[in-house]
Amino acid sequence: MDTEEFRRRGREMVDYVADYLESIEKRPVFPDVEPGYLHSLIPTEAPVDPETYEDIIKDVERVIMPGVTHWQSPYFFAYFPASSSLPSILADMLCGALGCIGFSWAASPACTELETVMLDWLGKMLQLPECFLAGTHGHGGGVIQGTASEATLMSLLAARCKTIRSVQASNPQLPEGEIFSKLVAYTSEQAHSSVERAALIGGVMIRKVPTDDTYAVRKDILKKMMEEDKAAGLIPFYFCATLGTTPSCAFDHITELGPICNEENIWMHVDAAYAGSAFICPEFRHLLNGIEFANSFDFNPHKWLLVNFDCSTMWVKDRADLIGAFKVDPLYLKHENQESGLVTDYRHWQIPLGRRFRSLKMWFVFRLYGVKGLQSHIRNHVALAKEFESLVRADKRFEVCAEVIMGLVCFRLKGPNELSENLLKKINQSREIHLVPCQLSGRSPVIDRQTDRQAHRRQSLSHPKVYYS
Ligand SMILES: *Cc1c(COP(=O)(O)O)cnc(C)c1O
Repeated sequence: MDTEEFRRRGREMVDYVADYLESIEKRPVFPDVEPGYLHSLIPTEAPVDPETYEDIIKDVERVIMPGVTHWQSPYFFAYFPASSSLPSILADMLCGALGCIGFSWAASPACTELETVMLDWLGKMLQLPECFLAGTHGHGGGVIQGTASEATLMSLLAARCKTIRSVQASNPQLPEGEIFSKLVAYTSEQAHSSVERAALIGGVMIRKVPTDDTYAVRKDILKKMMEEDKAAGLIPFYFCATLGTTPSCAFDHITELGPICNEENIWMHVDAAYAGSAFICPEFRHLLNGIEFANSFDFNPHKWLLVNFDCSTMWVKDRADLIGAFKVDPLYLKHENQESGLVTDYRHWQIPLGRRFRSLKMWFVFRLYGVKGLQSHIRNHVALAKEFESLVRADKRFEVCAEVIMGLVCFRLKGPNELSENLLKKINQSREIHLVPCQLSGRSPVIDRQTDRQAHRRQSLSHPKVYYS
């Protein structure tokens, strides 16, 4: 393909994408295919001779689309939403064109510097405490991770390193392996599975903290568990709090949990993967109170802030905690400016070396929507969830299972679990809308995530009729 053909194909692709998004509701939201469906549709080996572009494009509808779950469909209510917006798609195109791998400042200065500034912009939108911002000579700062899971893992590994060093400092004869085997991490029983995985990968014990009747972790129970573990000779070192849990959007009480962690020298990471976007609205910002006690904080603009996957934004209070834990400097990655103290080399802040120019997506989206536009996007979704909640509450057959604070509504049919399970099965089999279940204290409500549709189309939609069939 030469640039002449690229210009033509590029215009065609943009048209294809625009057509796809404009008429997405005409496609069944959930594919009707069996596992292995694709095998019979394509050859078992790559072509030896080049094919034509037309051949490929024809196959997109024939091979790919039948097996796509349409996450941007107005009928998609499963999981948490995957944000998408047209400006973000365009910025991603530019990122692909530049094709730079910004692992160090020198590897592409704009890639590093725009990221630092975007994380400061976003941090200020959330009114994060000053200590999390990079500014021009701050100790904190932000980084874009691929996912919230990676942010949790990074924070756990950094905490592990910090604790081992500090225990060794006061007990120099204690072998590292012995300290390692005593480390205990804590998180809510309602926390995302990625926290347990981080502990598995990090090779440390993890204890699940029971929650109160709003599915939130409280101070007394965490304190009691840590006391028990310390009495047993173990070393509590890490607590992952959740703001907006995956099953029910519950908020751990970090204003009371944070001080305990600080007193005990326990790293507090705050995972607000979904709910974090809402903190740009003053009426939701109080839910982030207590963040001043955290060592690290992360949320996913790719869930709710109109930035396409992947974009998970993480801030740390002390960047030395990350860099100190993960710095390895081979000669081929060194550059002249790195010792000046003014440059950021993001490779020390993450697990992979390579990284894309993802801050372009944030820059395009923030500038085109403005803070006001982003706030109204969040408010619109919350209002729709409230509307849906009131419809559920008005129907005597249903009950709402957890307080509706943001865009997530957990509800179930009254009576035994099987009723809700059957209803969910029928709904998903109909393929008109797509939902996923969750488990809260042994009950099995149907979950409806109200926030996943593009704002401009949701207005015209009535709420799913399936519940009444
Ligand atoms: C969605 C979610 C995650 C996982 O997000 P990834 O970015 O896919 O890793 C983690 N924690 C919470 C609370 C979530 O809602």
